[in-house]
Amino acid sequence: NDQFFDVPLSPKHVNWAEIYPEAYAAAAAAGQPPPLVRFADVGCGFGGLTVKLAENFPGKLVVGMELRDKVTEYVKARVIALRLQSPGSYHNAGVVRTNAMKCLPNYFAKGQLEKLFFLFADPHFKAANHRRRIIQTTLLAEYAFIMAPGGILYTITDVEELGIWMKEKLDAHPLFEAVPEVEVERDPAAALLLQGTEEGQKVARNGGKTWRAVYRRIQDT
Ligand code: SAM
Repeated sequence: NDQFFDVPLSPKHVNWAEIYPEAYAAAAAAGQPPPLVRFADVGCGFGGLTVKLAENFPGKLVVGMELRDKVTEYVKARVIALRLQSPGSYHNAGVVRTNAMKCLPNYFAKGQLEKLFFLFADPHFKAANHRRRIIQTTLLAEYAFIMAPGGILYTITDVEELGIWMKEKLDAHPLFEAVPEVEVERDPAAALLLQGTEEGQKVARNGGKTWRAVYRRIQDT
């Protein structure tokens, strides 16, 4: 239940230095401003994509966002273990427990995010529950707000009905445009969509079909 969540009043009220202690200390020591999170993995589950992104984009702070408490604690421990195993690495990976459908603007300022990921989101099959889907028109306006113009929103699912739904909502939204397939194929972040997460690996192992939709936050006119 949401009343148990500690919702930050604004992005400035989040204790980011606690999530990325070394990255913050390094910036301070170099006389640079505090680094900002640029990539968010929404509904990160066990954090497979979050850590792969941190590995592949060492210069970017990556945050996983997860609703379930135990799963969030697992990802926290996973990141700490990786930092210990590979000194100097994974200082850009972090996780927060939150309801991303309600709280994203409490975490990110306007135009902050360069990449926003929704991998294997819960399908909420029943029509009465469609409003719980993480990709929908009203929420897309929020995602557009926190994304940098030119930033990329990635979705993938093994549920055809949800794949069609997400594409439909994104196609209809004036602030997003589909990224051409040739560009998606060249994008190293897109390559992580299937292999990057626990859910994706399971689907790939079973030879299952997936539906991918990659959209660009258009430049403001
Ligand atoms: N993205 C991961 C993967 O591909 O392996 C996990 C996929 S799992 C099917 C969906 C995850 O989204 C679950 O861990 C669930 O707890 C989380 N989730 C569902 N609704 C959420 C919300 N409103 N905010 C944050 N996380 C949410």
